Amino acid sequence: CGIVGYIGKREAYPIIIKGLQRLEYRGYDSAGIAIYDGNDIKLSKTKGKVSDLQSQLENETSTKGTLGIGHTRWATHGVPNDINSHPHYSNSGDLVIIHNGIIENYEAIKTELVKRGYTFTSDTDTEVLINLIEEVKKQRNVKLGKAVQIALNEVIGAYAIVVFDKNKPNEIVVAKLGSPLAIGIGEDEFFIASDASPFIEYTKNAIYLEDEEMAVIRLNKQIKIRKIKDDSLVDPLMQELKF
Ligand code: GLU
Repeated sequence: CGIVGYIGKREAYPIIIKGLQRLEYRGYDSAGIAIYDGNDIKLSKTKGKVSDLQSQLENETSTKGTLGIGHTRWATHGVPNDINSHPHYSNSGDLVIIHNGIIENYEAIKTELVKRGYTFTSDTDTEVLINLIEEVKKQRNVKLGKAVQIALNEVIGAYAIVVFDKNKPNEIVVAKLGSPLAIGIGEDEFFIASDASPFIEYTKNAIYLEDEEMAVIRLNKQIKIRKIKDDSLVDPLMQELKF
């Protein structure tokens, strides 16, 4: 399973597809991608190979856009099928997520969200997490980064997640516990991936998130890394990639 994300000036689609192919060695049963086209999110996902996703996308949808996320899934909750594949939208359709890992207490959270009127299209734990983030964001009237942080403090499990809001297309929020997550720092562009192989040709500067850390990545801004539990700021430790 793997994750790839991009925000910057280049076309996101080729970077993400190539990146997912480089992460294929990690194993997976489904693949999906979401691209923000300047107006809306274009989402495409399928059970099967990254090459199946590619042929589906290039036939149906425009792949234009400079913000995007891609995922290969190793199913833990919900059978491998098109609907359970990532990315997943929140109920409003504004937020989108990719996730590697497991949310162990998703059933209790789902029950509470259903009581509050949320509906679910997939059987995944991941769709529960993105709707929890949406609910926190609305109830507390906080920014996406804060909502992700509050939601993750309610969650038991493991994750590498990438989230964005189509109303804030200059920003990506990522977080890690258990599953790996690397951030490539370019000039006015950022890459996100399970390991550095998807972005090594674009930048040699990377930050590897530690467990229980999250980052708010904004175009033209310094990256902000925090501890999810106590909200303390972490000094970004930039590493130079040598291969
Ligand atoms: N638990 C999530 C699911 O089953 C993510 C699985 C993964 O790591 O790819 O959809």
